[in-house]
Amino acid sequence: MMQIDVLSLFPDMFTGVFQSSILKKAADNDLASFHVTDYRDFSLDKHHRVDDYPYGGGAGMVLTAQPLFDAVDHVTAQAKAKPRVILMTPQGERFDHQKAVELSKEEHLIFICGHYEGYDERIREHLVTDELSIGDYVLTGGELPAMVMIDSVVRLLPGVLGNEASPIADSFSNGLLEHPQYTRPADFRGMKVPEVLLSGHHKNIEAWRHKESLRRTFERRPDLLENYPLSEQEKQWINDWQQAKKNG
Ligand code: SAH
Repeated sequence: MMQIDVLSLFPDMFTGVFQSSILKKAADNDLASFHVTDYRDFSLDKHHRVDDYPYGGGAGMVLTAQPLFDAVDHVTAQAKAKPRVILMTPQGERFDHQKAVELSKEEHLIFICGHYEGYDERIREHLVTDELSIGDYVLTGGELPAMVMIDSVVRLLPGVLGNEASPIADSFSNGLLEHPQYTRPADFRGMKVPEVLLSGHHKNIEAWRHKESLRRTFERRPDLLENYPLSEQEKQWINDWQQAKKNG
């Protein structure tokens, strides 16, 4: 079972997320355990402060090292596996599918959520193993980024999604975006489902899906194709699509 600890000043934010849908199912089935710790409880300051003015002056407060170091010691005291200690920060490496796969192989993840302020640099240098960002924008706290990462990691754990095959077909997992999907009816207000999908011919359906997956990636995320090994046939298709694009 994967152990997930979150260190946050706003633990209530996690209740809905951990008690709904796939994350709840993962916990109910003992595939993952979630625990949120309020690191303010570890502050040795008499007013339970967790931040202080920056040395050298300037605006903004800085999260102090002591409560976070002590909170990490606390959640690792009983742990058997060496944890990944992950700092939520817009300055971190960009989180993506590959990172989710990498983290899904760990036994113990600790997510540290900042709020408003910066971190004392010694937290980055000596406490954490990873610094991750969910994108080039700034949020008020690390709680939402931690939820994003936890959700995408936990859904990859074997047995968490009902249908074992489903994460494999997802966008990014084979380097491409997912192919278009249709469901009933076959004709909705004159908008028809592609014939091949109604044919029952599995090989043709697979081939169509693969080609459409490639087309969609070419149209929306050509950057993903830079690392994708293209077959001769695929190169030909892309050439055709490029020509079609040029000809408007
Ligand atoms: N002054 C800081 C930003 C503070 S934002 C700086 O310039 O780096 C407050 C907190 O929100 C951060 O400590 C971090 O935990 C979280 N946060 C904000 N944006 C984020 C992002 N894109 N990815 C991950 N965490 C983020």
